[in-house]
Amino acid sequence: MKGIIVQKYGGTSVGSIERINNVAKRIIAAKNNGKKVIAVVSAMGDTTDDLIEKTKQITPNPSPRELDMLLSTGEQVSISLLAMAIQAQGHKAISLTGSQCGVFTNGNYKSARIEKIDKTRIEKELEEGNIVVVAGFQGISDNGDVTTLGRGGSDTSAVALAAAVEAELCEIYTDVDGVYTTDPRVVPKAKLMDKVAYDEMLELARLGAKVLHPRSVEIARRYKVPLVVRSSFNDKPGTKIMGVEAMEKAVVRGITLDDNIAKVSVLKVPDKPGIAFKLFSHLASNNIGVDMIIQNVNTNEVNDISFTVAKDDLNHAIQVLGNVMTEIGADKVVYDSSVVKLSVVGSSILGDPDIVSGFFECLYELGINVQMISTSELKISCIIDQEKANEALQSLHSKFSLDADEEIELNVV
Ligand code: ADP
Ligand code: ASP
Ligand code: MG
Repeated sequence: MKGIIVQKYGGTSVGSIERINNVAKRIIAAKNNGKKVIAVVSAMGDTTDDLIEKTKQITPNPSPRELDMLLSTGEQVSISLLAMAIQAQGHKAISLTGSQCGVFTNGNYKSARIEKIDKTRIEKELEEGNIVVVAGFQGISDNGDVTTLGRGGSDTSAVALAAAVEAELCEIYTDVDGVYTTDPRVVPKAKLMDKVAYDEMLELARLGAKVLHPRSVEIARRYKVPLVVRSSFNDKPGTKIMGVEAMEKAVVRGITLDDNIAKVSVLKVPDKPGIAFKLFSHLASNNIGVDMIIQNVNTNEVNDISFTVAKDDLNHAIQVLGNVMTEIGADKVVYDSSVVKLSVVGSSILGDPDIVSGFFECLYELGINVQMISTSELKISCIIDQEKANEALQSLHSKFSLDADEEIELNVV
């Protein structure tokens, strides 16, 4: 089907009835421009956080199935209100939940992956002249249960739908003007980028730039979905995410801070084959993702293995590791949740010795101890103490000449 555009509106953009009415106006403008519009929306404002908070008053470990059932309600409030707002402004609209619009996922509650999209219903509604308003962040598993795609997952719903219907454009409307060199709320001198390569954006998103859900960038890159991140509060063009050729010269494109991590160390693990396998297979079978694995050689016989997990998974990880300690013959498990992952991102930066040494020099000048390091062609990441995180972010931003000449103005709250 030709002439389809997908617009996604985040929580702040639909945070009040007034804002929902404004979003309806934008969507209608696109429709009046001759486009068939699919609008994907998030839950209003802090709804998802508030729902999670409520579960904590009942239990620290809610059943993942029930949690997804609960969280999916946030987006359903937004879709119905937005569809009503569009109708009230004189246009045809219909709201659809994830399952109604054919978003099929695996059964991995809380971080489900989209496996298939059946676009029949969406195309039928578009054909009939409706603006289709879709609940982001949610899908349905093979056994008919509601699933969610992980925090920030509405971006992924939007991009996946755009890929499925071969939309000519997917616009991610948010509360900042686009993608910046770092979080503009933390570093006021962050610079807006007019374009960024899929690969670089993917690395920024994976490393904590929450302006886009990492999976949304993976899908956009794979299916070459033209993607734009822009503000829902003004008409500025925003940032294009696109396939551009690798730059000749390595440059730092952005800096990220991820505070949703914790460091775990398993001490005095016997130095023999199969131990790491046992350790990580137990974590994997409990669906606990790990990152930044390092091994310190302690003596000839024993090693320490350290890695990071998402902060939300820490309690679960400690519990799982507690159960395998005796089996693998380790001494004990220690952890630290007051750490952050600080990263610099840019094409082929690892190949530039000045960037590598500049990164560590900057941390040294601030007296920051580097606890773990990991690198790829596109990034240098390290784990440091949370306390110094913002200072390090600001200094690296200046060091790599990313500061804008003037401080940016944030348009919202
Ligand atoms: P939405 O509710 O619209 O999905 P999010 O809160 O998920 O919005 O993402 C937008 C936020 O991402 C911004 O308000 C900003 O604080 C944060 N952010 C972090 N890193 C960046 C970056 N590099 N560029 C732009 N925004 C960033
Ligand atoms: N409402 C969900 C969240 O807050 C999904 C999203 O906003 O993208 O994480
Ligand atoms: Mg988001």
